[in-house]
Amino acid sequence: MDYYKTLGVEKGASESEIKKAYRKLAQKHHPDTGKGDEKKFKEATEAYEVLSDKQKRAQYDQFGSAGPGFGGGGGQGFGGFDFKNVNVDFGGSFGDIFDTFFGGGQQGGRKKGPTRGSDIEMVFQISFEEAIFGVSKEIEVSAFAACLHCKGIGAEPGTKLKTCEDCSGTGQQVKLQRTPFGQIQTASVCQSCEGAGQIPEKRCKECNGEGRLMKAQRIKTKIPAGIHDQAVIRLSGKGEAGLQGGPTGDLFLHISVAPSKHFERIKNDIYTTEHIHVLQAIMGDEINVKTVHGDAKLIISAGTESGNILKLKEYGVPKVGTTHKGDHIIKIKINIPKKLSSKEKKLYDELVKESKLNIKPQSKGFFG
Ligand SMILES: [Zn+2]
Ligand SMILES: [Zn+2]
Repeated sequence: MDYYKTLGVEKGASESEIKKAYRKLAQKHHPDTGKGDEKKFKEATEAYEVLSDKQKRAQYDQFGSAGPGFGGGGGQGFGGFDFKNVNVDFGGSFGDIFDTFFGGGQQGGRKKGPTRGSDIEMVFQISFEEAIFGVSKEIEVSAFAACLHCKGIGAEPGTKLKTCEDCSGTGQQVKLQRTPFGQIQTASVCQSCEGAGQIPEKRCKECNGEGRLMKAQRIKTKIPAGIHDQAVIRLSGKGEAGLQGGPTGDLFLHISVAPSKHFERIKNDIYTTEHIHVLQAIMGDEINVKTVHGDAKLIISAGTESGNILKLKEYGVPKVGTTHKGDHIIKIKINIPKKLSSKEKKLYDELVKESKLNIKPQSKGFFG
């Protein structure tokens, strides 16, 4: 790709010529304009990124490439270019891109016009079980929503928007101030139209011309089975309504999973501790274990020791978007009886003799 050709300028073009050419192309191709062309927009942006930077431009002029990561010159075009390096917010309003590339130039007096609504960040608490099995939820969000009365335009139905007289549609008021250092020109947001450049002939009586209203909205969403604590769900277009018909922001749900009294969850596995009797440990047994999926049978082999780890495969938490589950992992703790009946005591005495371990049983303590 020839960056000069892309921007339609001569090789010796000045900085302002390059800026002007890019601004024209960006306006024409910007994806937000509806009939924009994202590919052409990116190409123009890539070219501008290089040619507007003295060092990169010099390198490009000399080597036909602006350094590693740039595909220019070799006909590769857009291939090796990391678009993320360019600070363009595609989600932002059309005006944002010019602030990004041209430094605004109208600080304090930026033309507002239709503006994208803010994103909403929200902590959303769900129960331990809901995180495992998924749940459909209705969320109540208080946020700016498009005014239904004026459909977000801000003008009373049947009336139009007209150019703001106080700023002639520029959205800013320029003032000349006399100071000891001479005359200084300052620009500020037009008070009458709040920078929009247009005002309704008659302001919508519901939203007072804002085009949006604070409203409690109920939003339905599905929380997938197996979701993790601190996962974030993005509900596109469920944020705040834009100003004067601008696009709606997004809603981000930061999931907070409540702990369980019975279960510990690490990723997709569930952990519990089972206490068994010393006789179960010696003789083996089949026990019921409470899992998140109900009771499950667990085989305790004869000779199980305290601290042994047993596993119930696929009794854990579903892996989001798959049919697989984690496991339920059981740590065994052996309980030693603290009291014995006289008959039990006799039988243990016999076991002691049988063991030939030369044990000297103590009458005090547990058996006392
Ligand atoms: Zn309205
Ligand atoms: Zn105005």
